[in-house]
Amino acid sequence: MPFAPIPKSLADLRRVPHLGNYEEARRTFSWEAARAELDGLPGGQGLNIAHEAVDRHACGPRRNKIALRWLGKNGESRDIRYDELGESTSRFANVLDQLGIVAGDRIYALLGRIPELYIAALGTLKHRSVFCPLFSAFGPEPIRARLQIGQGRVLVTTPELYTKKIAPLWAQLPDLEHVLVVGQPPAAGPAIHDLRALLERASSKYRIPPTDPDDQALLHFTSGTTGTPKGAIHVHAAVIAHQATGKLALDLHDEDIFWCTADPGWVTGTSYGIIAPLACGVTSIIDEADFEARRWYGILQDERVSVWYTAPTAIRSLMRVGTETAREYDLRPLRFLASVGEPLNPEAVVWGREAFGRPFHDNWWQTETGGIMIANYAALEVRPGSMGRPLPGIEAALVETLADGTIREITCPDEQGELALRPGWPSMFRGYWNEPARYAKCFASGYYLTGDLARRDADGYYWFVGRKDDVIKTSGHLIGPFEVESLLMEHPAVAEAGVIGKPDPVALEIVKAFVVLKPGRIGDAALMRDLLGFGRQRLGAAVAPKEIAFVESLPKTRSGKILRRLLKARELGLPEGDVSTLESA
Ligand code: ATP
Ligand code: MG
Repeated sequence: MPFAPIPKSLADLRRVPHLGNYEEARRTFSWEAARAELDGLPGGQGLNIAHEAVDRHACGPRRNKIALRWLGKNGESRDIRYDELGESTSRFANVLDQLGIVAGDRIYALLGRIPELYIAALGTLKHRSVFCPLFSAFGPEPIRARLQIGQGRVLVTTPELYTKKIAPLWAQLPDLEHVLVVGQPPAAGPAIHDLRALLERASSKYRIPPTDPDDQALLHFTSGTTGTPKGAIHVHAAVIAHQATGKLALDLHDEDIFWCTADPGWVTGTSYGIIAPLACGVTSIIDEADFEARRWYGILQDERVSVWYTAPTAIRSLMRVGTETAREYDLRPLRFLASVGEPLNPEAVVWGREAFGRPFHDNWWQTETGGIMIANYAALEVRPGSMGRPLPGIEAALVETLADGTIREITCPDEQGELALRPGWPSMFRGYWNEPARYAKCFASGYYLTGDLARRDADGYYWFVGRKDDVIKTSGHLIGPFEVESLLMEHPAVAEAGVIGKPDPVALEIVKAFVVLKPGRIGDAALMRDLLGFGRQRLGAAVAPKEIAFVESLPKTRSGKILRRLLKARELGLPEGDVSTLESA
């Protein structure tokens, strides 16, 4: 890749943040005003994600701007301008029409991060069918389960993935009528199509039909960290939140080069890897390859990425490689760094400053919320270890569910409670697919209950404590694993840690830590003693780990979250439960 020229001046990169004054932004923000920043379909025909993300730019001043810069895993690259994206997504929508697909049908993608994934996603949205991305590394069982749950009618995939994963399953998928293959179809038949040939023959003009903002648009499966993944349904109105949070939380400006490293198989990779940057009209980088430290630094440098949205697991991996490696690259254009998916250890925030001259900005949200809800902002002080403050337009609270099912709101600073949100923001999920009872259980006393525990400090910053299921009860204390993991990471020998509660006849549970060491460190008895002492000294005897195990790696979901329930099941010799999203599955 050629060495990219350094921008004219650094001042050129210092944009005025969209959100400058938090209190004022909260006071003045309204979802109606955010909606008014979008175009809406011509003639007042409603609101469609693909129109806002693509078509309005494709026929406006951004038509020649690069919408997506795709970097292939073998060194090739392809730029897709907004007008091209407009045409190819129209072709895809026309293909769906030709196949007799109707609004509301589910279109699945089982693809790596190749251009057709993005074309299929946006083409599906134009067509008003429902897009459901699957992570391409899934094994046959999670694929079967998700296709069956959502009754997928069309699947877009590659010849290799078809042969390996779909052909053996198809007989169990009575709803799956068409497979669109990117490349030479490996089998013949009326239901298997060569997608590129179909796209070529289809018209590049497509008029998006009237779209109700409440029409279903996306079906996203959760990460499966706490159990069987749930299919969360989102509607076209979600784009209002995608665009607003792209601006307010990620501070996207027209000139930005944005890179969201998440795979669209997870909600982050769709909301912020596809929709938000395009809705904001920026150029987005897509890397087909998997994480590799030098490759990532190379992309940040060569593509002059200015806003980078990534995840704690990747940041921790970069930290393991060391600050010196980061310093070998010219990363001056990088002006805003954000992280999501898991709690971001304070150590990692601070490391951002060391390695990039800027902190990472943690933000919090879920598949169910469709977009960022709580964030650290470009213009505001970052409190390392805190997820930040609620977005304008988002009413967050901490609550306790009482024995009679009612809710007590927690108002005291630093008291812990379940994080709850007042429904009403546009990207809120509208159901779990085919599981109305499970959906209904998420709401109480006018709140959506997130299942996460947090506390709020006196200045209104939220601090993640843990998932309700992961919290450890020991000798009358409630301990969030994150606090213990973060502390352990401050020890110079520790790269990563996962903490669980292990049943104990006296204390109810004791804190047990699984620790991955930095390269070159040896997990011997001396280090064990040192770490146990370090924990006791810094956390106090009640909270400190009583047991430590050195491990090579931690079990994680494919989206990079530590699977504490699996650490626990393995520790206790219990069934492993749903492991469909386990990294090595
Ligand atoms: P499942 O619901 O199937 O168990 P999951 O909750 O991991 O899986 P996602 O919707 O992908 O599925 O993840 C959202 C969850 O990730 C949040 O509820 C929270 O527990 C965690 N999370 C996301 N961002 C942060 C953050 N910045 N700090 C702490 N936790 C976070
Ligand atoms: Mg969840």
